[in-house]
Amino acid sequence: MTVTTSSVGLARRPFSDHPCFYSSARGRWRRVHLPVAPRCNVQCNFCNRRYDCANECRPGVASRILKPGEVLPCLENLMRWRSDISVVGIAGPGDPLCDPELSLEALRAVHRAYPDLLICISTNGLNLPGHIDALEEAGVTHVTVTINAVDPEVSRHIYSWVRIRGTTYRGTEAADILLSRQREAVVELKARGFVVKVNTVVIPGINADHIPAIAKEAACLGADIMNCIPLIPVPDTPFEFLASPGDAEIERIRDLASFHIPQMYHCQRCRADAVGLLGTDDCRNSGDTVLRIHS
Ligand code: SF4
Ligand code: SF4
Repeated sequence: MTVTTSSVGLARRPFSDHPCFYSSARGRWRRVHLPVAPRCNVQCNFCNRRYDCANECRPGVASRILKPGEVLPCLENLMRWRSDISVVGIAGPGDPLCDPELSLEALRAVHRAYPDLLICISTNGLNLPGHIDALEEAGVTHVTVTINAVDPEVSRHIYSWVRIRGTTYRGTEAADILLSRQREAVVELKARGFVVKVNTVVIPGINADHIPAIAKEAACLGADIMNCIPLIPVPDTPFEFLASPGDAEIERIRDLASFHIPQMYHCQRCRADAVGLLGTDDCRNSGDTVLRIHS
């Protein structure tokens, strides 16, 4: 992966300070997730965002949603305590581009106030086409696109529906639409100089044998790195009774995928309001609790 600096913004820190994209940065630099995106334009069969548990650590969970006006005060509190935040991102609890203005307003404010910080979003990619200019203007440097299948016959078992401008699509039609938008977006993001990670949730019996095909496609599209994430079975979802793949299975899958594209090996499957070093969060970014951060 090429390490460079952004053409967007002033004195941007090196891209290699992002602790998720570069394992060399994971013990040195902290990340902040802003939980500003509650809704999603897709329904994955493993996702349930209704749980609001302070002790549950997984994507899709946040103690509460920050309003756009709360973002900068929270971040300012955090910055008083810490000088080792390298990246601010939005990773849910829903999709950052389901209601793009909410996320873009937050990111623009962060970029204006802290132009040196890296900025990232993690999205299903459905609404990326048409918003890449706005992401660039908001200072975004790193984009994660979650691609769980590159074959509509596999996809249709993973997604219940996708929704665009009020129309809901299901089955292979939904899968075709989502995949074609993901492909278009990754190519465009790379043409613009973003760093792009493809996340894939490894779902036993559904897409586990399909991961090398996703890796191959991600590489062809130009993505920089891939993150194979073991399924977390969540209550009240169609996949609640599936087993999570074991460490040996994930290792085997990553080995296969690594023939095509570099792999991320240190993902912590973080909450949507995580703050701190990967794996040792200092606190949750929910306004009052962010004050509890300490060195
Ligand atoms: Fe949940 Fe993300 Fe899937 Fe939306 S795209 S349903 S937030 S996992
Ligand atoms: Fe990084 Fe993985 Fe946590 Fe996302 S879930 S912030 S990629 S460690």
